[in-house]
Amino acid sequence: MNRIFDKSWQRTSLCGRFTEADAGKEVRANGWVRARRDLGGIIFIEIWDWTGPIQIVFNPEAGEIHKLASSLRNEYCVAVKGKMRIRPEGTENPELITGNIEIVASDFLVLSKAKLVPFEVGDETDSVDENLRLKYRYLDLRRDKMQFNMRTRSKINAFTRKYLGEREFVELETPMLTKATPEGARDYLVPSRVNPGTFYALPQSPQLFKQILMISGFDKYYQIARCFRDEDLRADRQPEFTQIDLEMSYITEEDIMELIEGYMKGLFKEILDYDVQTPFLRMNYWDAMDKYGSDKPDLRVKLELCDVADAFRNSGFEPFRKILEDGGVVRALRLPGGADLSRKEILELEARAIKLGLSGLANFLYKDGALKGPLVKFLTPEEVDKVRELSNLQPGDALFLAAHKSRAKACEILGTLRLELGKKSKELFDDSPNNWKFLWVTRFPMFEWSDEEKRWVAMHHPFTSPVLDEDPSVMENDPANALARAYDCVLNGNEVGGGSIRIHDPEVQAKVFKCLGITPEEAKKRFGFFLEALSYGTPPHGGLALGVDRLIMLLCHGNSIRDVMAFPKTQKAQCLLSGAPDIVEDSRLDELKIKVDLPVDD
Ligand code: ASP
Repeated sequence: MNRIFDKSWQRTSLCGRFTEADAGKEVRANGWVRARRDLGGIIFIEIWDWTGPIQIVFNPEAGEIHKLASSLRNEYCVAVKGKMRIRPEGTENPELITGNIEIVASDFLVLSKAKLVPFEVGDETDSVDENLRLKYRYLDLRRDKMQFNMRTRSKINAFTRKYLGEREFVELETPMLTKATPEGARDYLVPSRVNPGTFYALPQSPQLFKQILMISGFDKYYQIARCFRDEDLRADRQPEFTQIDLEMSYITEEDIMELIEGYMKGLFKEILDYDVQTPFLRMNYWDAMDKYGSDKPDLRVKLELCDVADAFRNSGFEPFRKILEDGGVVRALRLPGGADLSRKEILELEARAIKLGLSGLANFLYKDGALKGPLVKFLTPEEVDKVRELSNLQPGDALFLAAHKSRAKACEILGTLRLELGKKSKELFDDSPNNWKFLWVTRFPMFEWSDEEKRWVAMHHPFTSPVLDEDPSVMENDPANALARAYDCVLNGNEVGGGSIRIHDPEVQAKVFKCLGITPEEAKKRFGFFLEALSYGTPPHGGLALGVDRLIMLLCHGNSIRDVMAFPKTQKAQCLLSGAPDIVEDSRLDELKIKVDLPVDD
């Protein structure tokens, strides 16, 4: 008789879900072979599925199948029939969920064999080279941790649909083959065969379409949207990633914040049984920069920056005085207990600050009742006192100073040191897994100067509304100080989401384009369809996108977004599993009227 997989072999339970209540019953299990042990004739194997392993016992009396068991290799896919029993006393394994029970095999079927595996699949240590894991992703995913991550991902998507569905959000899909959306990265382009010489862009975000949906009367939209950005991949970025993208009409910033706070509260309860406190702290961009040196501050680190400029304005220390006269800043980072740092540690810190862009890192150490440091001799006793006062320096502390012509740069550098120093110390950094510190950072600058392009570029994107209720002329007269109605949701130093209230008035939109140096002709060419739509009765609206991959990574306590994506790409944007991107046949290129012109290697 041909022994094939039919109903008679189908599992009676998932492996990890057998319990002591099954003892004495005839059962069937399906899964992959792990861990074979030969103990004086008796053979034990574990079979695994995503719920865990179950132990199978092959007694020598079992004849043929006992012989078969000795030929099994890891990752064979198998089916087994047998009787469940409580493990004999002394052989229990309390580390396994099914550690008190085992199946005594009476029949056994190899469903398919496995080649010798390139790495131990049951190994949960992540010690395997990541490229190997990516190449054999199907084996990598056959691990408890990866199963947990992917299943958490699916739960988060289900929660998202439930939460937004209950609030009358409409889930709509926007096109993948589309026109460029300006999110500041390069587009992935797809050539059109039927319109030779023209290209679609894969969306960097559904931004313009979701705004158009507001104009169309869908006042609450969302999408679990795939986005594409062709960037030189920095540490933990992916060329394609997922956002929970949403948009609402007739709202203000508060509505979005409340919606997301409720979402996070529900999500963290569901996934981690953790009670998120709401409302989140709210802080405007410049306060965050001044205090934490970052627009995504990690509030778990208990260190803050301060402004010590007033101690140096008239001081004899010329370099700082000069920077201040030229409109720069002198900021400082107080390190409690830092007076004990060795000379070597201080020099290392200075080298780091120089690498980050300072010309030096002056310091004061509060030792033996006085402030010590290379700058003391340039300052009057009153000025030294002022430094102490402004920084609230306490005996035993160290103070590190950054002077720079740019406020943002000085803050950012100290912000980096803040994280590096803080994260080394148990007193200054509570890294317990359930220490979740959310906040909103709001009122970002509207524009940032691009040295490369020699023009102002949008800090968020060009459809973000400026803050107009204070002084509407700021934007045109003083773009550096124009603020945007943008907001970021920050969690433990990660930007988990960002969005803004949008421009709904074509005149304001035209002004913003003007500030960005986009001519009306260019605007028409790039976003004409959108500007046209904007002029047909646009409701005030706004939205946000949550970076799902990062959020899942945090919820899974992972180290990389690659570990929460089923099939991620490498830093060189390659899929090691499928071999994409790949060259294509000339005939395909001919159809597309495309010629590849690669430089010839010499
Ligand atoms: N489109 C924005 C982004 O992808 C999010 C938003 O403004 O809603 O960052």
